[in-house]
Amino acid sequence: MYHDKTLAELSAMLEAGEVTSVELTQAFLDRIKQYDPQINSFVTVSDELALKQAADADAQRKAGKATPLTGIPIAHKDIFCTLDVKTSCGSKMLDNFISPYDATVVEKMKQAGVVMLGKTNMDEFAMGSSNETSFYGPVKNPWNTDAVPGGSSGGSAASVAARLAPASTGTDTGGSIRQPASLCGISGLKPTYGRISRYGMIAFASSLDQAGPMAQTAEDCALLLNAMAGFDPKDSTSIEKAVPDYTASLNQDLNGLKIGLPKEYFGEGLDAGVAEIINTAIEQYRSMGAEIIDISLPNSNLAVPVYYVVAPAECSSNLSRFDGVRFGYRCEDPKDLEDLYKRSRGEGFGEEVKRRIMVGTYALSAGYYDAYYIKAQKLRRMISDDFTQAFKQVDVIMGPTAPSTAFNIGEKADDPVSMYLSDIYTIATNLAGLPGMSIPAGFSNNMPVGLQIIGNAFDESRILNVAHQYQQKTDWHKQIPAAFK
Ligand code: GLN
Repeated sequence: MYHDKTLAELSAMLEAGEVTSVELTQAFLDRIKQYDPQINSFVTVSDELALKQAADADAQRKAGKATPLTGIPIAHKDIFCTLDVKTSCGSKMLDNFISPYDATVVEKMKQAGVVMLGKTNMDEFAMGSSNETSFYGPVKNPWNTDAVPGGSSGGSAASVAARLAPASTGTDTGGSIRQPASLCGISGLKPTYGRISRYGMIAFASSLDQAGPMAQTAEDCALLLNAMAGFDPKDSTSIEKAVPDYTASLNQDLNGLKIGLPKEYFGEGLDAGVAEIINTAIEQYRSMGAEIIDISLPNSNLAVPVYYVVAPAECSSNLSRFDGVRFGYRCEDPKDLEDLYKRSRGEGFGEEVKRRIMVGTYALSAGYYDAYYIKAQKLRRMISDDFTQAFKQVDVIMGPTAPSTAFNIGEKADDPVSMYLSDIYTIATNLAGLPGMSIPAGFSNNMPVGLQIIGNAFDESRILNVAHQYQQKTDWHKQIPAAFK
């Protein structure tokens, strides 16, 4: 039995010679084969490649060249370009796309000796909060297969929750690591914008997109972040700043930690069961020596509307490269160039992606640019300033990750605005470029609830420390859904 172990435990077992990477990788591939048909969390399982990488990792270890991640199998969100393995981004548009290079995140993982089990299902081009917009069909929540896993990194979250992979990578533009982590009962960290290279990560909204780790525990996220973070000359928005050892401060005690609770994150719209669990978690922190301080982020109500101008605007520009000529899907028998463009895009993109492209193109058009895009950028600055003020007073900000537990598949599919509100507590941190994390904090009606921890820029070490200390006192992160034990 390996699947119930954390990444840190598996790393120790590899180091002690209690298991080889080939055995471990085979065990997870077997679980994927047995259980994934129930949840649809993988688009591609790269078993042959995985076993080859595992054998290489075992050889590296024998040669005395192991890192803590050498031989650990993980899954990559299908938004990261992978050499020789299809990268679909959840879209028909890229159903036939094989990248000629690896994303920097994938490359760094390879260098650390990590084995890739496969690519995980996701909302099309990372647009969604439920995984229902994927060309490959919805992912199901391992805690209740009638429910969504959250999105857009729903396949990554569900695969870890069902213990089909010890960890996975995700991306978060408005909540896509934290919200599915919350709905599936796992730990997920969205780092500061610029901390991890975006090179080879298919762009949705370039000023918001950020990659991050998803795993059972904060400690596992720290181990993964050590390998993922760092400056990359190939990404002009990546930051030239030394990468600390994120595991080094996990054990600091929390005496005197100042936790801010924004009143805007506990008001109308928050499910009562979720609120109760978050309050219990806050009390746990108080008993660990933290000081709880009421704060306000007064422009919180602007985050969703601002995001739904900025993100579609950037996506309309980023997705113009999918034209039927250079990448991916091309329509049959085009009459002329215009027909080729129109039908390739019309047939290759799904409904939500088209909605975003239209909204974004409208917001950027002459005559509306000042009224929408420039206005949104100004408000974005005000939202960011709210956090700057708050962090003069507190060390971290806490609240719910999502307003409710997982909803049912189909429940919000025809109501985009209600779907967009799933990210009401996560979006502002992306607009401000700040790091945020979701960790399991309990269950409401048998479904997981995530606690969100938001930090100041480049304060990932503190967030991980705060999360790890909670996980030393609670066992929510150890719960495995009954059907996947
Ligand atoms: N749910 C949000 C959206 O649909 C955020 C997605 C994300 O973070 N990639 O845009």
